[in-house]
Amino acid sequence: MSRNAPRIAIVGVAGRMGRTLVAAVEQEPQAELAAGIVEPGSSLTGVDIGELAGLGRLGVAAVDSLAAAKDDFDVLIDFTQPRVTLANLAFCAEHGKAIVIGTTGLDDDELAQLDGYRDRVAILFAPNMSVGVNLTLKLLETAARALGDEGYDIEVIEAHHRHKVDSPSGTALKMGEVVAESLGRSLKEHGVFAREGQCGPRSDKEIGFATVRAGDIVGEHTVMFATEGERIEITHKASSRMTFAKGAVRAARWVVGRDAGCYDMQDVLGLKG
Ligand code: NAD
Repeated sequence: MSRNAPRIAIVGVAGRMGRTLVAAVEQEPQAELAAGIVEPGSSLTGVDIGELAGLGRLGVAAVDSLAAAKDDFDVLIDFTQPRVTLANLAFCAEHGKAIVIGTTGLDDDELAQLDGYRDRVAILFAPNMSVGVNLTLKLLETAARALGDEGYDIEVIEAHHRHKVDSPSGTALKMGEVVAESLGRSLKEHGVFAREGQCGPRSDKEIGFATVRAGDIVGEHTVMFATEGERIEITHKASSRMTFAKGAVRAARWVVGRDAGCYDMQDVLGLKG
């Protein structure tokens, strides 16, 4: 490990993403697995986080508060839930730590609260940390610009495992936003999130969303551009959570030492502009 390897703490270390993140940090020679945080009062407090992740002992015991790990880490990776993430962001701002946020499902008020920290702390916030999805966002921008604002019906279809609590996925919303922005539309105005009964034909400008929740699907997204005579589909399929975890570790290495600001994976991958 290099002397400049950032010390990474993972919050929600017993969760699906938390356990995968432990494995991803462990596989990265340019990062140090410094701390793992479980819920306050959790019976998992004190358990080795390598054992939580099914990797065997790594010599890092889970703690049940960020305060208990305060001096041990440079950057926090947070894949939990909005309320918890905002509290952790406040902690990072106060204590000079960078933060990588993968949590999805933040409402407008929570997004505004998050944005309120952009002058105080380096934040990397992305609803999807996979390199492939972020490249897909770039492809969608290109497709939308080339096809233009007329003639193509746009639908976003996503599928995830049965435990996912927010819908549509943060990634689906981001895809819708990228397409809407490229076409000069507002997703707030033109997004259609439910169709049932006699809801009439679709309008030209709407961007429709459809959601599947089933089994153990890791995450699949398709954006369809359909017109008379042809249909273009741009699809990304994740087959393992490791793709998100590896992206988050890459993001953590990138964001450490940056000026305060709100960055995303397009910044990390150099896809802006
Ligand atoms: P999960 O329910 O398996 O894990 C969440 C974990 O957070 C749980 O272990 C829970 O104990 C822990 N937690 C809750 N409150 C806590 C607290 N106060 N302190 C410490 N830990 C706490 O969920 P998951 O599937 O791992 O997903 C978590 C989030 O990450 C969701 O919002 C999901 O949509 C998002 N996600 C994002 C990406 C991405 O690339 N950005 C990828 C996958 C999942």
